[in-house]
Parts: sequence; structure tokens; C-alpha cells
Amino acid sequence: MLSASALVARGFNRTLATVSLRRALCVESIRSSSEAQNKQSQYRPNFHNTRSFSLSAASAQLDSPKLQDELELDPYKLRDEWGKASFDVSQMTFLLDHDNQEKRAKFRKILSEDPLMTPKYNISIDEERELALKRLKKLCDQGFISVLDFRNNPLWIFAAHELAAVVDAAMTTKMTVQFNLFGGTVLKLGTERHHDKLLKGIDTLEDVGCFGLTELGYGNNAVQMETTATYDKETEEFIVNTPTPLAQKYWITNGACHAHHVVVFSQLYIDGVNQGIHGVLVPIRDKDLNVMPGVQIHDMGHKMGLNGVDNAKFYFDNVRVPRENLLNLSSDVAEDGTYTTKIKGSIRNRFLAVADQLLSGRLCIASMAQGASKACLAIALRYSATRLTVGPEGKSDTPILKYQLQQNALMPLLAITYAIDFALHYIKDCWASQATDGSDHADVVTMCCVIKAIAGWHVSETGGTCRERCGGQGYLSCNKFGIDLALSHACMTAEGDNSVLMQKVATERLMVFKPVKDQGTASDGADLSDRTYLQALLKSRENRLFTSLGKKMMKAGKEGRFDTWMFQEQDLVQAAARSYGERLISECFGVALDKADPGLQPVLKKLHHLYQMTVIKRDLGYFATSGLMSAETGAEVGKVTADLCREVAPQALALCDAFGFTDEMLNAPIARDWVRYNAIDNEGEVEGVEY
Ligand SMILES: Cc1cc2nc3c(=O)[nH]c(=O)nc-3n(C[C@H](O)[C@H](O)[C@H](O)COP(=O)(O)OP(=O)(O)OC[C@H]3O[C@@H](n4cnc5c(N)ncnc54)[C@H](O)[C@@H]3O)c2cc1C
Repeated sequence: MLSASALVARGFNRTLATVSLRRALCVESIRSSSEAQNKQSQYRPNFHNTRSFSLSAASAQLDSPKLQDELELDPYKLRDEWGKASFDVSQMTFLLDHDNQEKRAKFRKILSEDPLMTPKYNISIDEERELALKRLKKLCDQGFISVLDFRNNPLWIFAAHELAAVVDAAMTTKMTVQFNLFGGTVLKLGTERHHDKLLKGIDTLEDVGCFGLTELGYGNNAVQMETTATYDKETEEFIVNTPTPLAQKYWITNGACHAHHVVVFSQLYIDGVNQGIHGVLVPIRDKDLNVMPGVQIHDMGHKMGLNGVDNAKFYFDNVRVPRENLLNLSSDVAEDGTYTTKIKGSIRNRFLAVADQLLSGRLCIASMAQGASKACLAIALRYSATRLTVGPEGKSDTPILKYQLQQNALMPLLAITYAIDFALHYIKDCWASQATDGSDHADVVTMCCVIKAIAGWHVSETGGTCRERCGGQGYLSCNKFGIDLALSHACMTAEGDNSVLMQKVATERLMVFKPVKDQGTASDGADLSDRTYLQALLKSRENRLFTSLGKKMMKAGKEGRFDTWMFQEQDLVQAAARSYGERLISECFGVALDKADPGLQPVLKKLHHLYQMTVIKRDLGYFATSGLMSAETGAEVGKVTADLCREVAPQALALCDAFGFTDEMLNAPIARDWVRYNAIDNEGEVEGVEY
């Protein structure tokens, strides 16, 4: 424990050091334009200037000649020296942004310039939650996001998720529930009476909402939920009830602190008959945030991350709401209890219709995951170009990004991030322009599931690898990998566990699967430098895995279907689903690069090639044992991949600059001047520190 006087002294020193550095070092911090970079070098930190101030112990040490030498290490200079872009970075940003470029620029500006967006670390859970809400409110007040975007500009919803996740994943999680899961459900399943009452307040956050699907006992198997909404003809009300502890609504985002409403998904009973799962609006707090009678809200408390998100458990004790609270676009209940529905088929289909918002939700999650993967890579690669350690002479003079270890770990992740981006753009377009006759809907559902799973796993791998490859710096909260890893786990679990979604992908692909003759095999003149051949190889793998799965399911017959799928062949099910996703991603990347400006194509071809080789390398066991690749060709895969990593590495920083993140959006010391950041006592915070 520090004594009170020591604490005062510490605070005093910190203030002095911060003020003196701030005055001495007014640094312009956006790296992306070369003009800004030139400005940066004009205002390059000069530690001698700090002498004229009454210095803290930390800055006084800067006078020591030895330390002065060490502080000569200038991360900005090292980054500039890493390698000039071989392509037009702003053109690449335009390509990666895909849509809403102007709006994205304005969004980046507020995320960069508004002081509220500066990260804060050592704060209480209550402060974290209030900060996440305040940040979201700021974006809403500026009109950056509206639930009506689903009608007017649906792609913007996803763009906002991607960029916001770079700055605050907790705020973005609250945003996705407010605007997609809650707002989108009210918009799409509700009718005029719900819209008139709620849409405006959803945009302004005067009406904060939740999406109450998951129950303690029923997560991935939510269709079995127990919560009931029973129609009472006498009073023309629904009685919403939680019959058992397992039926508690669980994990409900925005529920613990901020929400006024929840869409409760419940088994709808009329005259003792279950009509399946429907969404009913239930007020849970009044405008002053007093909890409504009959509603019990339990705060789920501290989590492994994203503690700015307030998650809750809900109990409903026979809570009565008016008949009009049923979201009644597709199914309705008349005053006398007559039930009507436009949804054809089994009552399971009614569940699928009400859970429709999960589809765009999966695109929101994939977009958030991509924002976080890009941020991790930008931070890790900037640091890797500026962290000097042992060189050929034993001196600390070699950026770790020169090492093959670093390149082989990070370049494939960069290639995968680009690849997923192009596939995600394609899938978002397909989702936004579905045929009115529903003919492509099933395909869109499968693509939304596979991209959510692959992007969710990818951000986890990226966050973990970047953290490790940045050493101890990677472990500090202020360098942000921890936040992105926490987000990645939410991405993997929320809105459908990734592996469970992959089962759905495999089922749906198997239903439409038609075996074809293998195109790329060991005997087809294997050429690992030929992207067309590699694409054929990926197709052949998918073809073989689905053929094999199909045969096993045929053999199992109707009787053995569940047993074979769930207890015997899970590895095959997962591998088949992944082979579809990876083939699709590679295909989308190929199409996008063919359409790209010729100036961008050389580097994109390298990345595409590296993506294909990475996929093959990771599944080399299958390629080698299935006869798709000879042992001789298989033995070359590692070398070809490593060569590509070496070729991509000089462009790595420029490829990250193309993500279009400002220094302030990243706001991680190791992505900026980490030497200057560490020259003073900053207590691990970035707020108020100029670096
Ligand atoms: C940060 C966060 C926010 C959330 N916000 C909301 C919200 O606002 N509203 C809401 O309704 N829900 C919310 N959720 C809940 C989320 O949707 C569920 O956690 C998710 O659907 C998984 O359910 P579960 O946790 O009960 O997992 P379970 O269904 O218990 O699954 C646990 C594990 O069991 C295995 N498993 C389950 N089913 C199968 C199967 N069929 N085949 C093989 N293996 C299987 C898988 O390994 C799975 O990971 C949130 C969750 C998180 C983490």
C-alpha cells in the first residue's frame, strides 16, 4: 500500500511530467497521409526541451546520456523506414471500405476526435457501463446510426459496427443489441403501432431495449424455451411468465442497467394451445429506470471482458401486457383470441421467422470481428516494425518484423483478414439484395452463418497471436489485445455458438450438394504458384468432404441420422462446413481482386495466394492423405507459404494503413510512440498522455 503522501507525490510527479511533455511535444498523430507524416517529423519529440521545465524524476532521468541514446529510438521513423507502399493506400482503403465511404470518413473523424472516445482502464464496472452508454449516445446524438438504416442504407449498419468495434467493443455490443437485435426486431416484426411508439426513441436512446431470446436452460437450443405468453381474452392481455429457474432470460444485453423494454420470446398459448415462439414487448423499467412490477432483474455482474456491457437475468412473474404488444407483422391474435399467421409450415418455422434478426446480427458480429482483427494487426505490426532486438552482430538493432518467426505468424493473419473482408462484402450485398420470392434466402442464411463463425474464430486467433508476438507489451491493457480477445469470445458464442452454426452450414450445404468430378488433384500438374489450381484444390476438398458426409448419412438412413451426425461424424461435419466457407472466401477474394484497380492487383494477388496457401497448410494432413496432394507437393507447402510471408512483409504496414484507422482510433501506445509514452509515469492509462 502506498502512503497518502506517496500517492500525492506520485500524482504530482505524473501531472508535471505530463504537462511538460505535452507542452514540449505537440505531435500531430494521424499516420495515414504522408502530409501528416511530414508534420509529425517536424514536431518530432525533442527530449532536451523538457529540461526547461521543473521536471519530475522520470523526465529528469532523460538528461542521462545513456538514456538519451536509448530515447533516440524513434518508432515513427522506424515505421517510415519499414517499406514504402507499393500501391495507393487510399485507393486500397476505398476498396476495403466497400460502401458508405463518405459516411465512414465522418464516422472515423468523430471516433478519432471526440475526447469521450479515449480509452480508460482503471475504472469501476459502473463507470465502464456508463461510459459505453455515453459513447453510444454521442454517436446517436450526431445521427450516425438509425434503426431505419435497415430500410434506407442497410450496409451502413455493418460499417458502423466494424469501425465502432475498433474504438470500444463494449459500446458496439450495446449498439448491436439496441439497433439490430432490439430495434431491427421491432422494425421488422412489429407494425405501425410499435413503430410509432418506439422507432424515434430507439434512435435517440430514449427507448433502450433488449432482445430476450436465451434462457438459462436453453441457449443454442432456444426453440425449446419455457417462457410463456398466455392470452387472456377477458382483459385482452398477454400474461408473460417465467415458470422455472431454467426459463430465466439469460445474458440479456442492456438489461442490467439501461433498458426500458425487452422483446420477450415466449411460447404463445391461446386456450391451452401452444402456437409456437413469438415476440412480445414487455416494459421492464419506466423512464426514470425504476423496475416495473412483476419483473425481477438480476445483474450478471463481472465478466472475463467487455464489462461495459450490462448483462442481466430476467424473471417475469405473470406480467400483464396489452394484446397490442405482440409483434404482429406475421402472426396476430384478435381480441377474441383468434390466431392468424402468414407463416407456412410447422410451428418451428414461426420460431425461425421471429429469430430473423439473428441473420443480420451475424453480419454485425462478423463486421465487429473484422474491425477488431484489423485493429490487432495494425497495432502488432506497427510495434513489430519498431521493436528492435538481436541482430546478426548481437546488437539490439533489428526490428522483430524482420524475423521469420514474426512474419510467418502475422502475414497469414493479414491475408486471412483481407480475404474475409472481401467475402463479407459479398455476403452483405447478397443479404441486402435478396430476391423478393425468397429463392436465394437459404443460400444467404448459410453464408451469414459461415462468415460469422469464421470471422469470430479469426479474431480470436489474431488477438491471441498478436498478443503473444508483442511480448509483455501485448499483455498491457492499454495495448488493447485483451479487449479484442474478450470481444472475440463474445463473437464466438453470442447469436449462436460457432461450431453449432457450422453444423447448420453443413446440413444446409449437404441438402443442396451435387457431387462433381474433382478438378484440382495430385495428378493435375500440381503448381503451388498457380492460384487457379489452388482454387480448384479447395473446391475438390469441399467436394470430397461433402461426398463422404453424404454417403455416411445415406448409409445411416433416417433411423441412424442423429446418431451418425451427433455422435460419430462431428469432425467430418465441421471440416465440410469449413471447407465450404474457405472455398467461398477464396472465391470472393479472387473475384474482388480481378475487379480491383490494376495498381492494387499485385499486392492483392500475393495476399490471395497467401490466403490459399495458409488454408492448405493448415489442412495439409487432409490434402496429403486424401490423395488431393502428393507427398512431394505437400513437402513444398511450408516453403511456398514462408516465401509469400517474406514477400508480403515489406507491405505489411501499408496494408494495415489501408484499414484507415487513425492513431486516435487505435490509441495503443505500441501503435504509436511507445518510447515517449513510457518516458513518464502514466499508470497504464492513455487519457491525458501525449505520446
Ligand atoms: C456477451 C454476450 C452477450 C449476449 N447477449 C444476449 C442478448 O442480448 N440476448 C440473448 O437472448 N442472448 C444473449 N447472449 C446469449 C447467447 O446468445 C448464448 O450464450 C448463445 O446462444 C449460446 O447459448 P449458451 O450460452 O446457453 O450455450 P449452450 O447452448 O449451453 O452451449 C454450450 C456449448 O455446448 C455445445 N453445444 C450446444 N449445443 C450443441 C449442439 N447442438 N451440438 C454440439 N454442441 C453443442 C457447444 O460447445 C456450445 O458452445 C449473449 C451472450 C454473450 C456471451
